[in-house]
Amino acid sequence: MHDTNLFFDPSLRLTVVFATVLMLGLLLKFWLSSRQIRHVAQHRDQVPAAFAQTITLVAHQKAADYTVAKARVGLVEMALGAVVLLGWTLLGGLSALNQWLAPWLGVGLLQQLAVLVGFALISGLIDLPLSLYQTFVLEEQFGFNKTTLKLWLMDMVKGSLIGALIGLPIAALILWMMGASGGLWWLWAWCVWMGFNLLLLVIYPTLIAPMFNKFTPLQDDAVKARVTALMQRCGFSAKGLFVMDGSKRSAHANAYFTGFGAAKRVVFFDTLLSKLSPAEVDAVLAHELGHFKHKHIIKRIVSMFAMSLAGFALLGWLATQTWFYTGLGVMPNLTAPNDALALLLFLLVMPVFSFFVSPLLAQLSRKHEFEADAYAMQQTSGQDLSTALLKLYEDNASTLTPDPVYVAFYYSHPSASERLARMLPTPA
Ligand SMILES: [Zn+2]
Repeated sequence: MHDTNLFFDPSLRLTVVFATVLMLGLLLKFWLSSRQIRHVAQHRDQVPAAFAQTITLVAHQKAADYTVAKARVGLVEMALGAVVLLGWTLLGGLSALNQWLAPWLGVGLLQQLAVLVGFALISGLIDLPLSLYQTFVLEEQFGFNKTTLKLWLMDMVKGSLIGALIGLPIAALILWMMGASGGLWWLWAWCVWMGFNLLLLVIYPTLIAPMFNKFTPLQDDAVKARVTALMQRCGFSAKGLFVMDGSKRSAHANAYFTGFGAAKRVVFFDTLLSKLSPAEVDAVLAHELGHFKHKHIIKRIVSMFAMSLAGFALLGWLATQTWFYTGLGVMPNLTAPNDALALLLFLLVMPVFSFFVSPLLAQLSRKHEFEADAYAMQQTSGQDLSTALLKLYEDNASTLTPDPVYVAFYYSHPSASERLARMLPTPA
């Protein structure tokens, strides 16, 4: 096989690069998590001075314990993820699945689709125990879990059915295009993918989300009056204000905007309304409006499209290179299409490399959060926004003392102390 100079074999080179980058990423992730665990544990015994008046030691310690417990489960998840990834690639899992299905289904579109389905089923099964543990042990232990095993199972069945109903046709279409639309298939496939994502933006809030939660028009008149006035002041129109029964599954609170254009709607979790005063709800909503005013949403969608175009172009090239398969532990079909294999390998391996740019994206996201906070302060009050945030941090048991390096790498939102420092007038 490799009888020529090994170093110049592109297949072997990919294997070495992939294994090395995977290992480096794993070491970096473990280092970051251990920093976070150590930092939070070290600050467990004292509420930071800035929060001494507002947060009790008990709440502070609960947040510390929750953060550490989550990070520990995260370590297991990372290790398991790396093993599974190696199993699919270099250890030959994907190749075996492909070869096992070939004699049954022949070669062609059906077999390729079966590879995707088989992969999704096996991955789902592997993820199941940890997912159960997270909901029914970790979240339960800290009093956040409100779901029952029955509801959880129903969610899973519903989710899988809807996923199959929507995912199978789109997957079949993309596989078909890969085989039938020539060298520029990736461009056409990208167009289909874009259209599909835009469609999801419309049907998710109106058709899919209501299958999992109940959405009722906002009844609370005090909140309604304030929110309507705020939206008018900021020049926003929405199709409606809704309350979602988030408490059915979890005690975590949230509020969000969904849809776009005329289909925009505002959704409050019932858990949020029960915890915040009308003025605080107003401030939280103003923060969300800030994201719209600064065009963060549209920027995010556009950059997602640009990145997926680059991804499809790269995949278009890689799918034609034999070393892309063999270097990642897959024996390509010699007389049949390899499109599903190319797609899966790409989706599996890409995150290993893109992890290293995640601090840049997180940094950008934190900048956007500061801008949204500033907007909310203009439109409502920094005082209301800060008390709302503190309540949410406390209720979600978010730590007030994260490790700064961990924050720089992972946090999509700035830490509480950084955000509050900008909201409240600093004492002279
Ligand atoms: Zn935000």
